[in-house]
Amino acid sequence: MNDFDNRLLIIGLDGATWDVLDPWMRDGTLPHLARLRDRGSWGVLRSTIPPVTAPAWSSFMTGKKPGKHGVFHFLRLFEEQKAGAGNQFVNAETLRSSAIWDVLGHHGRMVGLINIPLTYPPRPVNGFMISGLLTPKHAQVFTYPPELSGCLTDYQIDLDRFAGKTPYQDEFEESLTAPTMEFLGEFRTMLEKRARVTCDLISSRPWDFFMVVFTGPDRLGHYFWNYHAPVNGESDNPELTEGVRRYYMRLDEVVGELVERAGRDTNILVMSDHGMGPVPPKQIHIATWLQQQGWLAARARRTGGPDMILAKLRIGRDRLGRVMKLVPGLLKSRAVRRTINDRALAVDEQRSTAYPVPIFFNITGIRLNVEGEGARKAALQNLEHSLWRICDPQTGKQVMTAVFPGREYYSDCAAKGVPDLIAVADPHYCFKHALGFYSSIVAPRQDVRGPAKHRVEGIFMALGKGIPARAEPVPVVHLEDIAPTGLHLMGLPVPTDMDGRVLTEILAKEYARSRPVAFEEPKGFWPDARRPDFSRSAMSAEDEAIIENQLRALGYLE
Ligand SMILES: [Zn+2]
Repeated sequence: MNDFDNRLLIIGLDGATWDVLDPWMRDGTLPHLARLRDRGSWGVLRSTIPPVTAPAWSSFMTGKKPGKHGVFHFLRLFEEQKAGAGNQFVNAETLRSSAIWDVLGHHGRMVGLINIPLTYPPRPVNGFMISGLLTPKHAQVFTYPPELSGCLTDYQIDLDRFAGKTPYQDEFEESLTAPTMEFLGEFRTMLEKRARVTCDLISSRPWDFFMVVFTGPDRLGHYFWNYHAPVNGESDNPELTEGVRRYYMRLDEVVGELVERAGRDTNILVMSDHGMGPVPPKQIHIATWLQQQGWLAARARRTGGPDMILAKLRIGRDRLGRVMKLVPGLLKSRAVRRTINDRALAVDEQRSTAYPVPIFFNITGIRLNVEGEGARKAALQNLEHSLWRICDPQTGKQVMTAVFPGREYYSDCAAKGVPDLIAVADPHYCFKHALGFYSSIVAPRQDVRGPAKHRVEGIFMALGKGIPARAEPVPVVHLEDIAPTGLHLMGLPVPTDMDGRVLTEILAKEYARSRPVAFEEPKGFWPDARRPDFSRSAMSAEDEAIIENQLRALGYLE
């Protein structure tokens, strides 16, 4: 092995955030992760827009932004969908790009991949692969080579508890995702199974590039956020708080064990696909705002509709819950009941010049309906300026953190439905897309519960030969930078179609000078450059329902 042949181990921690890790790394709870950070470079890793697991890991594995690889969300978000097909989920076949393991295959490097989301259905790699999130529960083959599936008799990709339940039932959400020790124990068992298989394979199989993703930080973040001591202190349930801490301690031990087994000459990357944070306490009624500003038209409806009554009573839809509590008899009123059950006014897209398209809780798209290039441009600018001016009346501060044309981020995009404008709000706010009478455009939410939400700010650490320890974080690193950086650390050229860059700033100056970044023409899929070769196994309706349940329980679908 020469200087340019370093092996690379990537440990993915889905949904990990410094807000949780950092205090525990400082106080000695997570000694292995702390040691990795002390020895290398680290910082915030910025996720995709939206910071959703499917596009995020896709951007990691391709080194490309979503516009190029074609995975925008768990759902087919901007593409034309088959009529009447219901929700259409993405899978490995949606990805229009080759991945870092294709590049490695073309260069004859061996890979081992475990539990990376969106790797189902499996396809050949130069080594082995066990698929991750979105793998159907009943899949017979979830590995490459296929025989490996039969050897994994005590392995678990996700929890069984979501299986066989009907979506949209309140009971399902409440009982299945309530934070209990039993629920936490299931995550812990799954971690043990994954750890055992991963430790076996890292030691017994040949590899140059080894990667595993642990989903615990994401799942515990979603369901047990209030029991993470670093962000919420002591809770009303010390047993759960201690349980979450112990889960992390065990995960830290597993990380330490994998680093140990990988050997001294191996470069290490630890990364998340996005961060995690509390549920937003406030909301922005974006559709109603567009209507008030004269951009959006509502479908005509009979006079005296619920919102007309609400407007007369001066009760905003956002206050309905509170008013109900204060005036118990009100719930009995037929008009009020109809109002609650009645869906808010519908947007008339034909007659509107702009209307919103939901993307993520704090990210909305806006479509323009304006003819003529000049008029369109003017409208876009005008709308952009107005969006920046939306303020929270309680704080007086503006609520948007970014507003930009959709094609600017989703460049090289084949999908036709990319919104004209993307508005990103501070994560203290979520967008509401229903029309109606509200007391204020920016208002507190009535019911601030539900799973914690993703943040753009994830984590990364890099250490190994030529990567000096640094006390300060590395500024501005994006998910799509990891694949080119990984290739460079392994002494390989970077395909010219990757959007990301090699993080040369993490390398020692001398080291970086001695091995300038090399590029190569993209080589396509492996082994056949022209097309990916999937092991097809049809997904049953039951499998689709299970996946829908999982995503709903994680708060992706409303
Ligand atoms: Zn994730």
